Amino acid sequence: MMVGLEFIGAIVGCMLACECCSGKKHPQVTAVDEDLSPAETLHRLRQFHGHIGPYAILGYRLGNWLLEQLGCGKYFGAHLTVAGPGTTPYTCLLDGLQVATGHTLGKGNLELVANASRAPDVLFEIEAIADDGTAPLRVNIPASVADLFSEWMGGELSEEEIFHKTLSWPQNELWQKVC
Ligand SMILES: [Zn+2]
Repeated sequence: MMVGLEFIGAIVGCMLACECCSGKKHPQVTAVDEDLSPAETLHRLRQFHGHIGPYAILGYRLGNWLLEQLGCGKYFGAHLTVAGPGTTPYTCLLDGLQVATGHTLGKGNLELVANASRAPDVLFEIEAIADDGTAPLRVNIPASVADLFSEWMGGELSEEEIFHKTLSWPQNELWQKVC
């Protein structure tokens, strides 16, 4: 019993000693996205987002790619700015990005610039800047993706089919690196 109380006391003490998350560079949980099976990825997205749609899956796929390109870890280490439409289903992209990158609206290292002006053939402009000061990475999601996804969402495809289609669709048709 005493051991149990001491253990709980130690945990509470640790929690009280922790600083606010802002500026913290070492996440308090272990990233668990490595080597997730497709079924586990689907489950995680559904658990977070409540349903499965192509924009959330695209955000997930793009988020993993961005971290890889930046050489950045999960949760901290970069600032992501997403400029694009401010309504669903488009903004579901943000949830996929959050699941994949751990960079979140709450921590402020993911930001949405809703209804930002952009070229007519661009759906989203995304800028990712690593905290280490390396050059920003910019990608565009073309407007053609909106046509493609609305076709999928208006069809008879199941969530699982949309999931697999979005993950396997040619990357250069989903986003293009600008610089
Ligand atoms: Zn959604």
